[in-house]
Amino acid sequence: MDLKGHFKTITHHRHEVMKNCFRVGLYKQGLLHDLSKYSPEEFIRGVKYYQGDRSPNDAERRTNGMSRAWLHHKGRNRHHFEYWIDYDVTTAGKGQMTGLKMPMNYLVEMACDRIAASKTYMGENYTDSHPLEYFNRGKDHYMMHPKTKKYLEKILTILAEEGEEQAFRYMRYLLRKDREVLREKAREKCSCKCTCKCSCKCKEQSK
Ligand SMILES: [Zn+2]
Ligand SMILES: [Zn+2]
Repeated sequence: MDLKGHFKTITHHRHEVMKNCFRVGLYKQGLLHDLSKYSPEEFIRGVKYYQGDRSPNDAERRTNGMSRAWLHHKGRNRHHFEYWIDYDVTTAGKGQMTGLKMPMNYLVEMACDRIAASKTYMGENYTDSHPLEYFNRGKDHYMMHPKTKKYLEKILTILAEEGEEQAFRYMRYLLRKDREVLREKAREKCSCKCTCKCSCKCKEQSK
């Protein structure tokens, strides 16, 4: 039980994620990251099961067999791959669940989150390889879409092998590429008298 400790940990974590998100241009996501941790459902349990060097959710799970704080958190925060678990449409009727492909902006926020969480919990012992080591320990058990896994692994591998500057450069590249694909898709759908937000020339032509 540590109110001040928990408040400081989540606030410090939010600031670290914000810095990371701002470096890749995800301003809104940086500002809104993990705000649900201040809701009573998450905050009170975080205080009660405060650990300091790791997430309070594990302690809550060990005590109660589940973490209500985590269930509340993952259901509201799209930067967690667990948010994107749903029934698999390719096996309709069989009730099989699967990890959906995460939109790139949330995938990048997830990487920013993991880097920040490693720093918060490892303190002075943090190295650029820690987020990859943490990912490697869990990856075989994750219900995560293969493409999401591939990109996250690549970001964290670049971080471990080439450092932060290169990893953030790669994330900016992924976001840029993704925006181009989305713009292209919007353009394909567009049939003038343009109401979509694509950057085609329709608006000017229809004037
Ligand atoms: Zn979160
Ligand atoms: Zn976070």
